[in-house]
Amino acid sequence: MKLSRLHLKTLREAPNEAELVSHKLMIRANLIKKEAAGIYTFMPFGWRTIRKIEEIVRQEQDRIGCQELHMPHVNPSELWKESGRWYAYGPELWRIKDRNGRDFCLVPTCEELCTNIVKQEVSSYRELPLQLYHIQFKYRDEARPRYGLMRSREFIMKDAYSFDRTPEDLEEAYRLQYEAYVRTFTRCGLDFRIVEADNGPIGGSNSHEFSALSNVGESEIAYCEKCDMAATIERAECIDDKPVDEPEQELEAVYTPGTKTIKDVCDYLGVDEKKTIKALMFTTFDQDLNPADYVCVFIRGDRDVNMIKLVNALGIPEHYIEFADEDEMGPVTGIVGGFTGPVGIHNCKIVVDSELVGTKNMVAGANKEDHHMKGVCYGRDYVGDIVTDIKTLKEGDPCPHCGAPIKHTRGIEVGQIFKLGTKYSESMNATYKDENGEDQIYWMGCYGVGVTRTMQAIVEQSHDDKGIIWPMSVAPYHVIVTVINPKDELQMDLANKIESELEAKRVEVIVDDRDERAGVKFNDADLIGIPVRITVGKLAKDGNVEYKLRREESNEVLSAEDAIKAAAELVDKEIFGL
Ligand code: ATP
Ligand code: MG
Repeated sequence: MKLSRLHLKTLREAPNEAELVSHKLMIRANLIKKEAAGIYTFMPFGWRTIRKIEEIVRQEQDRIGCQELHMPHVNPSELWKESGRWYAYGPELWRIKDRNGRDFCLVPTCEELCTNIVKQEVSSYRELPLQLYHIQFKYRDEARPRYGLMRSREFIMKDAYSFDRTPEDLEEAYRLQYEAYVRTFTRCGLDFRIVEADNGPIGGSNSHEFSALSNVGESEIAYCEKCDMAATIERAECIDDKPVDEPEQELEAVYTPGTKTIKDVCDYLGVDEKKTIKALMFTTFDQDLNPADYVCVFIRGDRDVNMIKLVNALGIPEHYIEFADEDEMGPVTGIVGGFTGPVGIHNCKIVVDSELVGTKNMVAGANKEDHHMKGVCYGRDYVGDIVTDIKTLKEGDPCPHCGAPIKHTRGIEVGQIFKLGTKYSESMNATYKDENGEDQIYWMGCYGVGVTRTMQAIVEQSHDDKGIIWPMSVAPYHVIVTVINPKDELQMDLANKIESELEAKRVEVIVDDRDERAGVKFNDADLIGIPVRITVGKLAKDGNVEYKLRREESNEVLSAEDAIKAAAELVDKEIFGL
């Protein structure tokens, strides 16, 4: 294919709003074009890469016997009301109405629809196990669409759903998908880590995220170098420090003027942060977003509250909670902003981090302006309505598995797999008949790959200051033949020959025959990141070319035949492992 006949409009500069290198490069290389916040056109070169990632995903899904179908982008609200997610999903769910005022949504994910299909189509245990998937645009009206394809409002996801008879069968389906994901992301050329994850609004009991390692990733990962523990910060379990065994002191209110933070109190009273109790106040909402409860959360002064663990403990979605207005809350509950403690408060739900159980002689707010309590003991002076781990596992904390110091790193979540259990089959009453003709509910799993996010994660991991360095498997083309002087017949003849011979070997080639300076052509080839460049210039008169790999600095002079052979072999090796 001749570049002079294709559309490729590269840019020297990216727009200011593009913060990440990958975002800038994808715009400069004319792979994507922004249409609205979080909504993009995939330009021809970008779309070729998307199609390749999709094909890798497709091959690996097909390989494990997961069957492709295609479900609609528009879903009737009834199904979502049945599962309860019409309310629980919140403002991210893109709701629309038809001309008769009926509610629909643009799909953010398809558990409801797929469960309903299987409920209607499958009737017997003989038809199980079953796995279905599709690769489809998804819609989430994200609060902050940003970073290009990383967090967009319209994006491509592969989503698969498994239907089984027993938890053991689900375990097997999950294992097959897990392995398919390892192969998928390896073939995409990503450096990734598999981490235990929170289930979030999807629900269920167990989940793993596939995270492409990157400093700019939005997922924070806690991991241990000594054992194989790796989990998202939301999920990572914390080991409680054992409470110190000491005689209980009497409760005593002390004057602590202006000490509104833990640090102020510690400095003023000369105590360690570990001997203090930190308070955080929230309001929760019901499904119509009317205020429901006041919640006071207590945790050791040196710890941080993990909001995901907190909403899980409360059994509510993330958007059902906000920081409370302490002035409004004070008269109802007895708290005093900046001086809140657990003793003597009322009309609110008290959530206590499990580490405080058994602690004695702590310092906490006295619910009185400019005062703190000393000698606060769990059990004697206060108890929690909910007591559980709501802490964030910090860097240096002991690993929950082996005790070694925890490290943190960042990643881009490119895929996530979930064991859903019976959450959807139960709420949507999806059953099959067993051997005895009795109705049984399905054990389900669901499995997502962010195709468009994966594309950008690859660019984020694989670029230099000149541009993108595509892995062969997902490059828009494998080889670019750069013709220095397209008006020179000898050069064009040789370029045509290389093109047709490579194409005969199923190598994807573009010939840069544009009427541009050589420098412009080299810069574009580097920017768009084609893995192999074959330059046809003055050496053409002897049948020679320059052969250069995008990922290497140096080039070599080869005969055209040798260059063709080298390129074709590299493609075979890197794509097919031949
Ligand atoms: P996040 O935590 O990043 O919001 P999620 O956990 O809500 O993502 P899932 O429901 O697990 O996302 O969706 C499966 C995959 O779809 C994710 O692993 C991710 O790769 C991709 N994805 C999710 N939201 C977006 C988005 N707004 N833009 C691009 N890709 C997305
Ligand atoms: Mg996820």
